[in-house]
Formats: sequence, C-alpha cells, structure tokens
Amino acid sequence: MELVDTHCHLDIEECFPRFREVLLRARAASVHTLIFPGVDQARWQRLIGLCRQEEGIYAAPGLHPLYLSRHRPEHLEELEVLARRGGIVAIGEIGLDYFVESIDRTAQQLLFEEQLRIAASSQLPILLHVRKAHDRVLATLRKKRFSCGGIVHAFNGSLQQARQFIQLGFCISVCGTITYNRARRIRGIASELPQEALVLETDAPDIPPASHRGESNLPEFLPEILDALATLRGEPHELTASYTTANARRVLGLAG
Ligand SMILES: [Zn+2]
Repeated sequence: MELVDTHCHLDIEECFPRFREVLLRARAASVHTLIFPGVDQARWQRLIGLCRQEEGIYAAPGLHPLYLSRHRPEHLEELEVLARRGGIVAIGEIGLDYFVESIDRTAQQLLFEEQLRIAASSQLPILLHVRKAHDRVLATLRKKRFSCGGIVHAFNGSLQQARQFIQLGFCISVCGTITYNRARRIRGIASELPQEALVLETDAPDIPPASHRGESNLPEFLPEILDALATLRGEPHELTASYTTANARRVLGLAG
C-alpha cells in the first residue's frame, strides 16, 4: 500500500523540530509521498529546501489568505519566479476565508486572483483553502477560466459545491474530520463522491483524527483517515488507498 498525504505542514520547524523522525514514521505507516503547502513567504525557502533534500516530498508554496497582513506585493513577484523556475508541484495554499470575518475580503480576492494568474501562467495546479466562501471561489475560478485543476483541501462545503469543483477539474480532499461520528454532513459527502475525485490529507499538525483528539496531528495517522473513508464507502481499504493515491498523482502531475 502506498498513500499520499496531499496536505501537511511538516516544514514548520516550531511544530516539527524532529522533522526526519516524523517523516520516517510516516513512511513506516505507508505514507510515502507528502505535499507541503506554503503559508507565507518567510517559510518558502525552508519548505523548498526540505523538498529538494528528500525523495517523495513536494513543495506547493503560496500565500495563505489567513496571513494576509504578512504578505507584500514583492512576495507575489517571488512566487512567480519560483513557479517559472520549476521544482514545485502546485501553488498553495491559496483561496478565500470568510470564516474569520476580520480579514479584508477585497484584499483576499485580489491576492487569490493574482496567485491564480501565476499558477495558470506556469500551468500549475492549486491547493485551495476555502471557508464559507465556496461559491465565491467557484465564481472566481470560472471568471478567470482557471483550467489547471488542483485540490480543495479539508473540504467543508456542500455536496453540490463539491460536484462543481470536480467539474472544474479539482479533487476533493478528505481529512481527519471524517473520523468523528458527529461530522455527519461531511461523512455523507465523502461517501457519495465518485472515486476519481477523492484524495487524502492529514493537515498535520491540525485536525487530528478522533483517536488522537487533542494531540498534534501527524502524517502517520493518515491510514486512520483512509480506513474511515473506506468503511463509510463500504470498500476494501486497499481499493480506497489505490484510487486516492492515483488521483493525487494525476491531479498534481507526479510520476508513479
Ligand atoms: Zn494547511
């Protein structure tokens, strides 16, 4: 079995001072491929450096909407240079967050559209962060005719919105939320979507699965998310493992 953690933040040194140990344990748990999204410019260098050193780790630098106040116009220029240079698999994580009401929505929109432009000009997929703004993100993708696809990380929208993202070439990422019985809506969505649209992620150190509630999340917990998804869908977990891995590779253009 080979799993892909399509979204984890092992590059954040304060959370993962023993990066190599965490990575070895992930691999022992069949998580052989990991995608590290970026959140701000200050972390890109380490992020890309780690991905260069290790097999099977891929960088997706970007400017996260939650950290709007840290971003500067020159960071977009730097991102464009990184995208052109190659060696990264996606731009992420980017999008709109309307859950935190204090973050200026016009500025978020501009930042998002600029990063869409950068991704499109280098033909790179994107990793989307979306909270309470799914229709707005869908409208923006359509308006900009964005066609490189990507992954909607830790999906928390409706089934209808998930289907619209899939039509636009996106995969829907399932995280530890589905291991909680009370997460009925998202469990329902995960059980209804077509196989070719689903990928897995931990979002470590955030969103620990139910069995590790209150702890810091780790990529080695990904098999628990896989098992929960397979059980919900009534599938053998080898099958769920194989299509989620194939989907992640396809949408991010990874070999294998
Ligand atoms: Zn994240």
